[in-house]
Amino acid sequence: MNKNEILTVTIEDMSDTGEGIGKYEGYTLFVKDALPGDKVRARITKAKKQYAFARCEEILEPSPDRVTPPCPVSRACGGCQLQALSYARQLAFKEAKVRNCLERIGGLANVPLRPIIGMETPLGYRNKAQFPVGRDKNGRIITGFYAGRTHSIIANDRCLLGSDQNEAILAAVKSYMEEARVSPYDETTQQGLVRHVLIREGHFTGQIMVCLVVNGPALPEPEALIRRLREIPGMHSILLNSNTENTNVILGARTRCLWGSETIADRIGDLEFQISAKSFFQVNSVQTARLYGQALAYAGLTGKETVWDLYCGIGTISLFLARKAKQVYGVELVEEAVADARCNAAANGITNAVFFAGKAEEVVPRKLAEENLQADVIVVDPPRKGCDEKLLAAIVQIAPPRVVYISCDPATLARDLKYLCGNGYRLAEATPVDMFPMGVHVETVCSLSKFSVE
Ligand code: SAH
Repeated sequence: MNKNEILTVTIEDMSDTGEGIGKYEGYTLFVKDALPGDKVRARITKAKKQYAFARCEEILEPSPDRVTPPCPVSRACGGCQLQALSYARQLAFKEAKVRNCLERIGGLANVPLRPIIGMETPLGYRNKAQFPVGRDKNGRIITGFYAGRTHSIIANDRCLLGSDQNEAILAAVKSYMEEARVSPYDETTQQGLVRHVLIREGHFTGQIMVCLVVNGPALPEPEALIRRLREIPGMHSILLNSNTENTNVILGARTRCLWGSETIADRIGDLEFQISAKSFFQVNSVQTARLYGQALAYAGLTGKETVWDLYCGIGTISLFLARKAKQVYGVELVEEAVADARCNAAANGITNAVFFAGKAEEVVPRKLAEENLQADVIVVDPPRKGCDEKLLAAIVQIAPPRVVYISCDPATLARDLKYLCGNGYRLAEATPVDMFPMGVHVETVCSLSKFSVE
């Protein structure tokens, strides 16, 4: 099999990253932009011994699950992978992905998996967007998204996953840049000023934050930008972030407020959270309420429990739990997030939540050794790499009757469940939640119970 060879193949499955999988004379082909059920002509882009990567050149027979992508640039843009697949099949794919991981990696049989919780309207859900700024071939300033796996910008101000307001905000920024002769940043030469426009919108409050990320300490004629942005309904916070490093990381260390407030508010259920430019906040507010609701149900609180919420971010889940528990302790690595968590607790009148900054795998074993930490429920919500084994070992030693595991990566979830289920726990139930319609990622919340206390 050689590069640029063209083959006809029927797609049978989908990879974790959304490529169609087909077989050709014993080879496995990963075909970009092809879906299970498609018969396609595919061009090999990279050939290995047992498998090859390919691109769909022509759809000979479309899959019955194929739909017209709602966004015209969905194929070029790296943001969405599943737009051409019907939403019902997207949900089925994600559910199967979770089941497969739990069975194959987790070694679990008869997985008690509930149906995935999907969205009624799987578009317009993102409360945060980061648009790179650049120039097109004709030198015009553009904003948009990176093409998949590259840093070339696909001009697109109307991302269908985001808020309708984004288009007007980006138009205001570009018109300001043209008028004040402010240049976009160029990654290759590291010249120019404006790198990214970060927009956050409180889904349930309508408050908007616009943060310009610039390669320098200041912005010329900021009042011209502020004047334009203030005309947009809901504008609440206009910020300037300086990032002069040659890096892919979007935000630099320093943020200052040009106009309005430093933060915006959003609600999850009846709790209100202040969100700063840097805080981690779930991007899908509607589904977050459902995810946390499920986590709370799995925690099974009666008001008497001591709960530890590990990887707690700005304390969102902790505060949800605190109202139904005796005492909640949160642990989070990022200091700023811990500060936000404390403010959020105070602002919501919650006095039974205490937060610690540090690594969960260090704080928890230390508190166990020094203060004989006890817990009725432990909630974990780690990043994609899952929990450190030192933490899992400490959880087993603490032996809470219930563990609630919230995961954004079914593979590491399965690995960690294998550990816990090999050390006295039983997976009582798992519920996938679709936090990212049109994308390949899936969130899962699991209820684990200790064998001896049934
Ligand atoms: N539960 C929160 C945040 C989940 S995201 C929410 O739902 O909003 C995962 C969080 O884990 C991030 O805030 C990240 O900063 C934090 N984190 C990453 N590694 C960590 C570690 N080793 N110990 C504690 N927190 C960590």
